[in-house]
Amino acid sequence: MRLTVVGCAGTFPGPDSPSSCYLFEADGFRLVVDMGHGALGVLQRYAGIADIDAVLLSHLHADHCVDLYGYRVARHYAPGGPLPPIPVYAPVGALERIAKIHGVDDHDGVARAFSFRALAPGRHEIGPFTVEAGRMNHPVETFGFRVSRDGASVAYSADTGECDELVRLARGADLALFEASFLTTQPGCPPNVHLTARQAAEHARRADTGRLVLTHLVPWNDRLATLEEATRSFPGHLTLASSGLTFDL
Ligand SMILES: [Zn+2]
Ligand SMILES: [Zn+2]
Repeated sequence: MRLTVVGCAGTFPGPDSPSSCYLFEADGFRLVVDMGHGALGVLQRYAGIADIDAVLLSHLHADHCVDLYGYRVARHYAPGGPLPPIPVYAPVGALERIAKIHGVDDHDGVARAFSFRALAPGRHEIGPFTVEAGRMNHPVETFGFRVSRDGASVAYSADTGECDELVRLARGADLALFEASFLTTQPGCPPNVHLTARQAAEHARRADTGRLVLTHLVPWNDRLATLEEATRSFPGHLTLASSGLTFDL
């Protein structure tokens, strides 16, 4: 499978990246995981509007879902459109949430563009991918994922504070795509919201993942400091996510 980091900025877009969005491809199937602010624009560098087969949303914070509304409009006006609905796996309430983004209730329009499937912990077969979902530690219902195909696997933390379930989900994965929003040295960061770079590294070490890619990088933090903090706690291959980065697994 191929993983492309479309957006890796945390909380709001940065000058060089949209908010969270990742493209998983295998056997011609394209699965988009999260669709935060600005993701739909950059996503079109890697896949056409009509070429997405399914969407998976970790949670309903704006920096992970807001561009799904733009995508509903894009599918309506696409050449040959309106395009038939594609499945969107998301927490309960996603249709209602997305339908209100435009200011008027567009329930029917969103329901025509997407077929919503409520996420629950456990395994979901999405095209050629096996996706295992687990509950993360975040103020709203949030799922982390282990996306597997042909013996290769990527574990994605979504947004989470410290979380044993993330370690379980990521056990032995080839690649851990873990959020590292906070720094240990930064005062006043609330618990049970996000991981520090050190915590992300410790979770990946406990899960014995092959490599660690730090993501959900908040624009106000120094990236080098994030990388350095994680390096002290993770002995394996460690990278900062950036928009456009691809991994073939
Ligand atoms: Zn977020
Ligand atoms: Zn969040």
